Amino acid sequence: MAKERIKDLLERGVADTDVTVEGWLRTVRHSKNVSFLDISDGSCMAGIQAVAAPELDNYETEIGKLTTGCCVRVAGRLVESPGKGQSYEIQAGRVEVVGYADEDYPLQKKRHSFEFLRTLGHLRMRTNTFGAVMRVRNAAAQAIHRFFQERGFIHLHAPIITLSDCEGAGEMFRVSALDPEQAPRTESGGVDYSQDFFGKEARLTVSGQLEAEIAALALTNVYTFGPTFRSENSNTSRHLAEFWMVEPEMAFCDIQGNMDLAEAFLKGVTRDVLEQCDDDMGFFNQRIDDTVLETLTNIVEQPFERMTYSEAVNILQGSGRSFEYPVSWGVNLQSEHERYIVEEHVGRPVMVIDYPKEIKAFYMYLNDDERTVAALDVLVPKIGEIIGGSQREHRMAQLRQRIRECGLPEEEYWWYLELRRYGTAPHAGFGLGFERLIQFMTGLGNIRDVIPFPRVPGFAEF
Ligand code: ATP
Ligand code: MN
Repeated sequence: MAKERIKDLLERGVADTDVTVEGWLRTVRHSKNVSFLDISDGSCMAGIQAVAAPELDNYETEIGKLTTGCCVRVAGRLVESPGKGQSYEIQAGRVEVVGYADEDYPLQKKRHSFEFLRTLGHLRMRTNTFGAVMRVRNAAAQAIHRFFQERGFIHLHAPIITLSDCEGAGEMFRVSALDPEQAPRTESGGVDYSQDFFGKEARLTVSGQLEAEIAALALTNVYTFGPTFRSENSNTSRHLAEFWMVEPEMAFCDIQGNMDLAEAFLKGVTRDVLEQCDDDMGFFNQRIDDTVLETLTNIVEQPFERMTYSEAVNILQGSGRSFEYPVSWGVNLQSEHERYIVEEHVGRPVMVIDYPKEIKAFYMYLNDDERTVAALDVLVPKIGEIIGGSQREHRMAQLRQRIRECGLPEEEYWWYLELRRYGTAPHAGFGLGFERLIQFMTGLGNIRDVIPFPRVPGFAEF
């Protein structure tokens, strides 16, 4: 008898057929003359109940000893279930124990805190919540690829090890093959990286953007979807040291086209996930945050609000609120400001453009006012910034000027500058933090609970 995923079996929905399933027991109930096994294989939120009668030859010796967490293979007949809350169950003809679970199995049927579950990275995917997170992540990743592929974007595999610091910020992890105890030294006493593996100081990438720009100026529309790393020591509920970033980059595109893409992208991916994961999304809405379904439906149906940074500052200053960080033109918008605008002033996602150049990266397009750059932040309820992007500076003179102003070493960017000499073109793109998106979709409060294996300051277990 061919085995089946529980999801397929429930969708097929034909009763009175022979089936075989394999999975882990979420709960077990033994009564005098029957055992109920609730089996999950992670394919969907629902499990399936198998009913095992004492007539089975291993009932006393094995089935009766089954406990939560055991792994089993059950063959039997799929029948309509008389029980509440399930349409089908299996009348077991055979129950094989694949693996017993010791008595101290930590995931007994009760609610565990997310903090506790983080210490069980090897087991937590067996819980309802993390099973659902994993399926939503999977559906969202597929939806992202589908969105770009349908529009003719080429998937670029950006490097993970890089020599250049994209943003000129000191948040990078070092990559070295030198023995730290016996690293070769230069005459001035520093580590001599010329003797290191790459002959230079190497780091883990914080963004694939600069490489995506190279690709866009040859292939027109591209996107990356890969891991990025930041050693920022921010112990927040929205920052990871290792996270996945989606970065489209488009030639012949300005800030308006960038906003159009960002909006279509968030709408398209959200619509797909709502469609494909309705059970999981229903679970999040019921158990985690009873506003997620409404919020996501709004994302799909309502146009995003668009405003400039200056308008945002005016709104904040006119709000009569006293913020922890006072607002004036030129300051960085803090999470409290972003949330006020999105949640209280507008009530739906907001795209903010044209930030002061002093608070944004060197590569952003300098607007005609020469005070602002064509940056784009997309802000959503509860999360704040979910996307950061910009039109890029494609003019040689302005770019060199900005590199100088930011105090960056021009030599390091030689190829980035050459792209402005050899057939430059206006281009734009953005970066979406994949885990921020999943946080937003699931309503989970902490970003550590939407990635299978979180890496944060002081923690990289499993
Ligand atoms: P923030 O101000 O929230 O730290 P950022 O300005 O550093 O974000 P960008 O450099 O613009 O972010 O990166 C693009 C996107 O990557 C962000 O909009 C966000 O969704 C995501 N992101 C940034 N840093 C992290 C992180 N440490 N963990 C998870 N996602 C992140
Ligand atoms: Mn940051």
